[in-house]
Amino acid sequence: MVSASKVPNSLELVIDFVNTLDPDDPSDVFSTAEGLGGWMAERGLIDAEDLPLQEKDRREAVTLREALRTEMLAHNGAGSEERVALELDEVARRGELGVQFRADGSAPLAPRAGGFAGALARVVVPVAEGTRDGSWQRVKACRADDCQWAFYDHSRNRSGVWCDMAVCGNRAKVRAYRSRGTRPG
Ligand SMILES: [Zn+2]
Repeated sequence: MVSASKVPNSLELVIDFVNTLDPDDPSDVFSTAEGLGGWMAERGLIDAEDLPLQEKDRREAVTLREALRTEMLAHNGAGSEERVALELDEVARRGELGVQFRADGSAPLAPRAGGFAGALARVVVPVAEGTRDGSWQRVKACRADDCQWAFYDHSRNRSGVWCDMAVCGNRAKVRAYRSRGTRPG
């Protein structure tokens, strides 16, 4: 289900974050604060000295993850929800996310807060950058209810609906066929 094509604005990070809950399995990397801390350390989002994380950190990460998934479903035709923007804004605010002018001439969007607040804010940086060129709109959650796997829609007209046509698209077709076949009357 992972596409080999290039995804802009480091949106893979956001896709990976949402896919820490594998609906097929179902296993949740963020079921413990330890799992969350390990995931963040592996990606260089947090320093070892800021570990271990707390249960409240874990709950914040899960809240952000589900808000992002809701927005990814909205990109795939579901209704959008106002609370998603509020949640993202809260994460950005707690992480003191802002433009940082650096001596090398670069000016990245980066968190000023350290620790977990800064680490979580790094997850929403690609979202902010992706809103400018529309690439964030291409990050979708699969429309299959039992899947909801996050993916990048590489299709020319942003028409992608399933994470992987070979798996979910066909499964949906088979299901539709079966439900027609068994309908009484
Ligand atoms: Zn799917």
